[in-house]
Amino acid sequence: MAIVALYDEQCELCQASVSWIRVLDRRRRVTCLPVQGTDLALISPALDAEACLRTLHAVDDDGVVHTGWEAVRRVWSAVPVARPLLALTERHRGADRLGRRLAEVLLDSRWELVRVRGGRAHDHLEPRPITPLGPFWVCYSAELLLRLPLVAWATSRSFARQARDWASTRGRRVRLLDGRLEICFLGGPPTAAVPLVFGERFTMAVYRGVAVDPGSSRMRRSLAQHLAHLGQTIHTVVATHAHEEHVGNLDWLADRVGAAVRVGPETARLLQPPYRLPWWRAAVIGTIPELRRWSPLGDRVATDGGELLVLPAPGHCDDHVVFFDPVEGVLFAGDSFMGEHFATPNEDVDGDAWIATLERLQELEVSVLVEAHGHVHTLRPDIPDVPGVVLRRDPQAAIGRKLQNLRWLRDQVAVGRREGLSDRAVEATCYPWGPQWSWEHKGVDELARLFTGGRFSRTRVVRSFRERPGEVFPERLEVRFTPA
Ligand SMILES: [Zn+2]
Repeated sequence: MAIVALYDEQCELCQASVSWIRVLDRRRRVTCLPVQGTDLALISPALDAEACLRTLHAVDDDGVVHTGWEAVRRVWSAVPVARPLLALTERHRGADRLGRRLAEVLLDSRWELVRVRGGRAHDHLEPRPITPLGPFWVCYSAELLLRLPLVAWATSRSFARQARDWASTRGRRVRLLDGRLEICFLGGPPTAAVPLVFGERFTMAVYRGVAVDPGSSRMRRSLAQHLAHLGQTIHTVVATHAHEEHVGNLDWLADRVGAAVRVGPETARLLQPPYRLPWWRAAVIGTIPELRRWSPLGDRVATDGGELLVLPAPGHCDDHVVFFDPVEGVLFAGDSFMGEHFATPNEDVDGDAWIATLERLQELEVSVLVEAHGHVHTLRPDIPDVPGVVLRRDPQAAIGRKLQNLRWLRDQVAVGRREGLSDRAVEATCYPWGPQWSWEHKGVDELARLFTGGRFSRTRVVRSFRERPGEVFPERLEVRFTPA
């Protein structure tokens, strides 16, 4: 028997259920149609759009309309794997009552979730406070369960890709732009955990005699191997910012090749003891040696036959700068880009400053964007395809998409705070289950949270947006969610 199920297009719970039905309903017995944009009268004159949004409606072959729990049963009875469960509810009154109650709670709760996630559809609903066992978290958890197999699958795929990229670039030097740009992949035993778990490889870029971000102290052996085969002479060593994987070899490299070290004054200040580097970062990536000889960056750095503009780029951290060759259109972005949907920032990240930086970067004519962690974004035909390194996308469009994503996050955070949500709840609204970028990275992001004791996490993204005057940030719910 065929059945038509009418679902709310704007509800993530509905979307997740529909994806599962489409996967499991091998005989195509269930037709899922969105309430929005479907001529309901053609299906059954008894259907009312408002009622359909309020609870699930299913129409069978004979035109009989089922609602709520009955509709759930009708729809899932068409799916063979669900039948044993349904049979249980037919035999046992208790199981039937439980199913009915669960369906009621979920079908009722999903509206709460839709309202919170941007308030798109049901503005006639009164906002209700979000409590730990309230509809919002019930619904969020239900979606988590529904998405979990997909998340696990996406996470294992990410790990496989990260391992492949790491293995294919390990110790490699990628020569681009006729050898004017060389990207040296750096590593050392414990540092490999980072690319394998988080997907961030370590690199030094050498561009027309200027070495950018020469790696951490644990990467010296691999750095020395690159120096022996480099196609250019390094005369200047620079750093984009003071994080340990970028600045561990400034003096070391300069001494070795007879180059000058130039860093921004703020970066230089951070490279004087005492350092505030967590022990686990020092253990895995390497300690920060004291910077001895350096001169300030100024606003440009001379290269062989040209110059790099030095542009302030706070956001990822306050002292961040980027280097830009306006003639060639090459931008050394350091960590000021970090992927379009980067969700696990450092503790020193500032979301508002990051937006302002990306707005400035978007105005540059960038044709090659070189990230510090192993990716080059370009559409230029003179740059060959290098699997795992060169990403064929327009750098300016990529910056634009990142900017759009950060602005959206900023607005979500602002709305959430206005509604008085805890930052855990705001985080849930910032990373909804619907978009692929969100659930696909959930596993890797949660592992980052786990391994760093919560320091690199999606919650950090929420907290990176400053509170605006007049915004009230409730501590009450936060206390309940975060065990001391
Ligand atoms: Zn960094």
